[in-house]
Amino acid sequence: MNILVINCGSSSLKFQLIDAETEKLTAKGLCERIGIDGSQITFSPAGGEKIKKEVPMADHKDAIRLVLEALTDADTGVVKSLEEIGAVGHRIVHGGESFAKATVITPDVKAAIAECCDLAPLHNPANLIGIEACEALMPGVPMVAVFDTAFHQTMPEEAYLYAIPYRYYEKYKIRRYGFHGTSHDYVSHRAADLLGKPYEELKIIVCHLGNGASVSAVKNGKCVDTSMGLTPLEGLIMGTRSGDIDPAIIEFIANKEDKSIGEIMTILNKESGVLGISDGLSSDFRDLEDGSVAGNRALKAFALRTAKYIGSYVAAMNGVDAICFTAGVGENSPEIREEICNEYLGYLGITLDDEANHKRGEEIDVTTADSKTKVLVIPTNEELAIARQTYALVK
Ligand code: ADP
Repeated sequence: MNILVINCGSSSLKFQLIDAETEKLTAKGLCERIGIDGSQITFSPAGGEKIKKEVPMADHKDAIRLVLEALTDADTGVVKSLEEIGAVGHRIVHGGESFAKATVITPDVKAAIAECCDLAPLHNPANLIGIEACEALMPGVPMVAVFDTAFHQTMPEEAYLYAIPYRYYEKYKIRRYGFHGTSHDYVSHRAADLLGKPYEELKIIVCHLGNGASVSAVKNGKCVDTSMGLTPLEGLIMGTRSGDIDPAIIEFIANKEDKSIGEIMTILNKESGVLGISDGLSSDFRDLEDGSVAGNRALKAFALRTAKYIGSYVAAMNGVDAICFTAGVGENSPEIREEICNEYLGYLGITLDDEANHKRGEEIDVTTADSKTKVLVIPTNEELAIARQTYALVK
């Protein structure tokens, strides 16, 4: 069965068509600048040539119509008709406390996703639009919602509560939710497979280091802590997000520069992180590895913050068997892994294998045989994980 995986952002839409039985990618692509001048669709059939077209897209329904046309195109498409698409898996950012796993989309599920719009005002409305556009264009095809927050719903109260008046949790559900759950779930399971040990008997730390970045602690098969919070702003230093700061900084800048809370939130989300610390050099880690003072400053701060989170999760789990690196930076930067492991994690008995650490694009143990704690590089595959969860619910 072909599963269409849809990831809708506010002005973009990423898609993949995956054969659920063979787990092979059939085609993938991206619609950009939806609702803005210069919208374009990129379509890459597996093994074929990438096609890029500028086409007006007024909204997400237009974008999904173009995706379906590209998939079924007589010359360059990959399926003969829409009947060959058995289900759609939608990535949904926030499921609040309502969803601890993927679920078939019904009117009630849509209402619950809408209720979480308050918690993810940029993402959930776009996700809902994507669902409704698919429902309109593919009537009768089952749709599944896969939540970024679901994997973290096993966290105990002491990990998810903030030390603010309890009434804010009761009234508004202000608590730590965590994100990138599909990736943490996928990577931690792959780690158990690679180690050849039961998932339920391991203590695993997953570092998802991309443009957005988060760490999770997975103990005996359950997520027990994660670094992102009510929103994805908390935790690690990211591409443009600040991660943890003293909350008093918000009032301080507001007073000094006469800025509104909204303006400061934009600064913390879009102008901070390694982009901010490098004084605007770049949010892309490749650019920061240019040997400049500003780039170096940002990389060092990023590595230290990540190492401190790893240390705190070793404490939270009273030990660790394996530390996994994944996503753009985690998978591709041997330098960052080296800085984190060699500079800060010697006390865990970690010895990196330099040659293995410099390999790319494969699942690999990057430690020496006698390393007490294992360090694994595991390329994440959120789309495949969404397709698997969708297939499991509809087959
Ligand atoms: P997201 O999905 O959050 O946008 P990704 O997981 O795709 O992020 O990661 C993107 C980031 O990965 C880029 O910002 C870039 O800094 C980083 N990256 C990609 N390749 C390399 C590399 N070779 N070395 C260092 N960083 C890299």
